[in-house]
Amino acid sequence: MIEYDGAIYVPGADLWLDARRVKDFSFVSHAHTDHSARHRRVLATPQTLALLEHRRGKTETVPARYGQPVTLNNHQVTLFPAGHILGSAQILIEGEQRLVYTGDFKLGAGFCAQPAQVKPCDTLVMECTFGLPQYVFPPKEQTMERLVNFIQKSLLEGRIPVVLGYTLGKGQEALKIVGDAGYEAIVYESIYQIAKIYEKLGVTFGRYEKYSGHGVEGKVVVAPTNMRRDQLRTDLGRFSTVYLTGWAMDSDRKFARGANLVLPMSDHADFNELVEYVQQANPRKIYTVHGFPQFAAHLKDLGFDAEHLPQGQLSLF
Ligand SMILES: [Zn+2]
Repeated sequence: MIEYDGAIYVPGADLWLDARRVKDFSFVSHAHTDHSARHRRVLATPQTLALLEHRRGKTETVPARYGQPVTLNNHQVTLFPAGHILGSAQILIEGEQRLVYTGDFKLGAGFCAQPAQVKPCDTLVMECTFGLPQYVFPPKEQTMERLVNFIQKSLLEGRIPVVLGYTLGKGQEALKIVGDAGYEAIVYESIYQIAKIYEKLGVTFGRYEKYSGHGVEGKVVVAPTNMRRDQLRTDLGRFSTVYLTGWAMDSDRKFARGANLVLPMSDHADFNELVEYVQQANPRKIYTVHGFPQFAAHLKDLGFDAEHLPQGQLSLF
């Protein structure tokens, strides 16, 4: 039902899934750049299409809302929430069998994304970014409490608290969290622009403004992860940074990007959620992508027929 040459192709529906090289027609699960290219035609949710246009420019689109089937050849294709970032979708393709491709996903309630659903299927192609047992995240409430403590402590010490997150997704989540915690936010341009798109698409935030070089005292700054510390020093003076990432579970801090504090908060499923997903979907065949090959081995130990698809390697089946 699928072919794989470093990207996944469903011949029956004549559709690529999250192809990273330019194709005639691809499903794009969400607007992170590692899941798309400038395809000639894109199937995605309206939210993803709006974000993609901002990031990659206009293209021919086939919008599909969650739960509203589209017919491609003689296959029925339905997008449903993935819980990852705004607009993120999984795809169910029904032909001679039921195929689900998850894209990036997270179970449970996110801050800006509709909660993921799980659909029973015959074949499951799933991401497994955090597919090692060490990546089990603590409860969200606990992490939120640590974040608020960090903000309060920084402000008391006369430092500007800076929350670092990816430009699309985590940046807006950080903005949402800061607002929900009752703080005003100052947001750097790239995250700000996307927050404005989020607002147009129905997400609400607390009080925030774009960084303009002044008025940061007593507020919380939200900045992209690639922001240099010396730039922050020039802009803000005394500051301390917190980085929200699932990689916080790594003790060697190699993903910490020099942040003063790293908190485990991710828009991906953790190890337990990945296993839970598989148990609920109960597929006959599983292909894992985007993550540790050991996860497929773990699924085999649990009695599932699982195989890892290494990215970029040629194999066809
Ligand atoms: Zn993603």
